[in-house]
Amino acid sequence: MTILDLSTTDLENLISNWGYPLYRAKQIENWLYQRYVADVAEMTNLPQPLRQKLAAEGALTPLTAQTTLHSSDGQTHKTLFRLPDGQAIETVLMRYDKRQTLCLSTQAGCGMGCPFCATGQMGLQRNLSAGEIVAQVLAYARLLAKEQKPVTNIVLMGMGEPLANYTATWQAIRRLNDSSGFNLGARHITISTVGLVPAMRQLINEPEQVGLAVSLHAPTDALRNQLVPLNRRYPLAMLRPAIQDYITTTHRRVTFEYALMNGLNDSLTQADQLIEWLHGLLCHVNLIPLNPTPDSPWQASPDDKVQAFHVRLTDGGIPATIRLRRGVDIAAGCGQLRNSTN
Ligand code: SAH
Ligand code: SF4
Repeated sequence: MTILDLSTTDLENLISNWGYPLYRAKQIENWLYQRYVADVAEMTNLPQPLRQKLAAEGALTPLTAQTTLHSSDGQTHKTLFRLPDGQAIETVLMRYDKRQTLCLSTQAGCGMGCPFCATGQMGLQRNLSAGEIVAQVLAYARLLAKEQKPVTNIVLMGMGEPLANYTATWQAIRRLNDSSGFNLGARHITISTVGLVPAMRQLINEPEQVGLAVSLHAPTDALRNQLVPLNRRYPLAMLRPAIQDYITTTHRRVTFEYALMNGLNDSLTQADQLIEWLHGLLCHVNLIPLNPTPDSPWQASPDDKVQAFHVRLTDGGIPATIRLRRGVDIAAGCGQLRNSTN
C-alpha cells in the first residue's frame, strides 16, 4: 500500500482520522503531485509526527529503478522497475521536440496471449495498483523537472492490458487528471486496448474523456483470431460498433495500431480490406513494423512493403503514419527489457 493509491477524499479521511486539519491533505498532495518528492522527510511544512505516520503508512514510491537504458539517439529512455513483491515492469519516456510522452505499464505481464508480444508471452503475473501506475509518472516527472520539462502526454501502452485492470487503471487516470493530483488534461492521456468490448463501453461513459487506441493488427477475423486471441470472444463485428460509439460520444479520433509482419498482414489486398473495415470511422492508423521477440516466427515487413501498405491506405482515404521504431536498440518494444533481464 502507498499513499499514491489514495484519492483526495481517501487522503482527507486518513488525515482527519489522525486528528489533523484537512489542509494538511492539500499540502501532502502538493508535495506528491507538484513537487514529486520521493521521501516523506522532504515534506518540510508538515509536523514531524504526521510525517512519521505517513511514512508508516507505506513507501511513498513502491518502485525501485533497477535498470535504465538510453537509446543511441538519446531520445528514448526505458526503466525496469521492481515492485515490492519482486515483480518487474517497464516504463518508457519518449522525447519529441516539445513533448515528453510516458508509456506506462498497467499489469505485470498480460493474460491476453498475443503471440507476437513479449509481455503476452510471459502471461499475467498480477494487476498493478493505482499507486503503482501513478508512481511511474512521478518517477519520470522528478527526472524531467531537473531539466524544467514537464510530462506532456501519457499513454497506457506499456506492459499489460489496461482495460483488464479497469478499476486501478481508472483510479490512476483520475489521480493523474485531477486538479488536486497530477493535473494533466484527459486529452493528453491515451488508453491502448486490444479490444475488450464491455470495458470499452464502460470507458465511453466515464466523465474523463481519454484518448483511445485500438490494437487491430488484422482486417479479418480469421487472421485476427490468430494474432489477437481475444478476437475469438470479441470479433471485429462486435469491436466496430463499440469504437463507433466512442467516436459518437467523444467526437475524438481513434488511433489504430497495426504491427506489420512480413507475409502475414502486409499485402495490398489486406490494406484494401482494412480500408473497407475502417470506412466511415474517424480514425488514424499507426503502422509499426514488428519488433520481433527473440523466438518470433514472424519478422518485420521490409521497408518497401511498409511504404506500399502506407500509400495504399492513404490513397484509400485512411490517414496513416509509419511509426518510427523508437528505441529498437534498447528493446523498447513492450515487455522486451523485462524478458532480457530475467
Ligand atoms: N495491451 C494493450 C496495450 C499494451 S501493448 C494493447 O495491446 O493495445 C502496446 C502496443 O504494442 C500494442 O499495439 C501491441 O500490439 C504492440 N506490440 C506488442 N508487441 C509488439 C511487437 N513485438 N512489435 C510491435 N508492436 C508490438
Ligand atoms: Fe497484452 Fe497488449 Fe501484449 Fe496483447 S499486445 S499480449 S493485449 S500487452
